[in-house]
Amino acid sequence: MAIPKDARINLSPEDIPKRWYNLAADIPDLKPPLNPGTGEVAKPSDFEPIFCKEIIRQEGSTERYIDIPEEVRDNLIYLNRPAPLQRAYRLERYLKTPAKIYFKREDMSPLGSHKGNTALAQAYYNAEAGIHTLTTETGAGQWGTALAMVSNLYDLDTTVFMVKGSYMAKPLRKTIINTYGAKIYASPSEYTEFGRKILKEHPETTGSLGIAISEACELAAKDPGTNYSLGSVLNHVMLHQTVIGLETMQQMEIGEIEPDYVVACTGGGSNFGGMCFPMMGKKIRGEGFKETQFVAVEPKAAPSLTEGQFKYDFGDTGGFTPLLMMYTLGSEFIPNEIHAGGLRYHGMSPLVSAAYNTGLLSARSYDQTQTFEAGLLFARTEGIIPAPESCHALKGAIDLALDAKAKNEEKTIVFCLSGHGLLDLYGYEQYMDGTLPSSDIHQ
Ligand SMILES: *Cc1c(COP(=O)(O)O)cnc(C)c1O
Repeated sequence: MAIPKDARINLSPEDIPKRWYNLAADIPDLKPPLNPGTGEVAKPSDFEPIFCKEIIRQEGSTERYIDIPEEVRDNLIYLNRPAPLQRAYRLERYLKTPAKIYFKREDMSPLGSHKGNTALAQAYYNAEAGIHTLTTETGAGQWGTALAMVSNLYDLDTTVFMVKGSYMAKPLRKTIINTYGAKIYASPSEYTEFGRKILKEHPETTGSLGIAISEACELAAKDPGTNYSLGSVLNHVMLHQTVIGLETMQQMEIGEIEPDYVVACTGGGSNFGGMCFPMMGKKIRGEGFKETQFVAVEPKAAPSLTEGQFKYDFGDTGGFTPLLMMYTLGSEFIPNEIHAGGLRYHGMSPLVSAAYNTGLLSARSYDQTQTFEAGLLFARTEGIIPAPESCHALKGAIDLALDAKAKNEEKTIVFCLSGHGLLDLYGYEQYMDGTLPSSDIHQ
């Protein structure tokens, strides 16, 4: 059956947004980070051992728009921006749904995910500030890959701490990160004090993002020429990711698409925030998207929004970071092993958390046995193998489309395909041979 010519809406390089959108300008009652030592509001200088000044400024900014440096815009082209907005006709047809399903293609970046959007900006500002090395954590490996690659554009060295469970399950990630010239350690590692402490207490641990963050921060704090770079959670990361939603808004205008639902998966919240915040801002200001519902999809293994508490908590396990006001399962919570390593985080972006607390979005959670089923279906209908993380958003979109079918409603659903799963095939293999374990924390 022929697919209409408007199945894919493309923009040209000059349509790459010129400024990022900052939800902190529009969200009421955003609570600032606290210094855990004093209990007072954290000062910019508290962040200086690990972040450069411009990043710290953006982290605390309440300006609605922040200009994207020309050089960063130019480099976004190499990440295949603008990313297409595509309609999933074949999936719709398979589901026999009257709903229209669109997806934003962050999988088309040569890095395989949306993570490059903030990696580029962070590497740029740190290089400008005279930093020579960046340290970071990575779960499934997408963020470490992105930072390793963009570091080459700015002559930076990168050291990545990869959660041990993922490091073992996805050995090719190490190869990619080494190919881009960065160093990588399985976390917890012998390379840091905190890593050695955890290894002594829990020699068998498969690690967690919280532990890997502690290791990366420790190195950055020790050397003035080394900074830490975070792939999600913080306000400046949400800001850099808004190119996703700003582009999508232009594409929806071209395609005359009015979304009933915008769906994205949530680990630390950055592809969700990047996709939804520009639209949410308009909704808050009464400038559109009045009927649009924003839906966050998280794994049952780390359900911070659906089952966490809204309170001040550490961003890492070691307690090195400032206290963040967020939905959290507790900084010591170590999620069950899942293939969607990028969603295995105890907390949630303070901006996404504040929006959730205000009722601006809803959240739902799925077990990985459900999300891989959705991924397989997408591969066999649309030809794209989604990242295990993105399968969560996809599963959310499919359920909304089936709901529309049951009610015979012509809903429009837009979801963020945050990355491809070509380095996560082991999860698909397990799903297909029936050995994929359930990951629900309640089991
Ligand atoms: C890292 C990652 C996520 C989760 O992180 P967010 O900050 O919540 O976006 C989702 N999808 C992919 C492909 C990732 O690499």
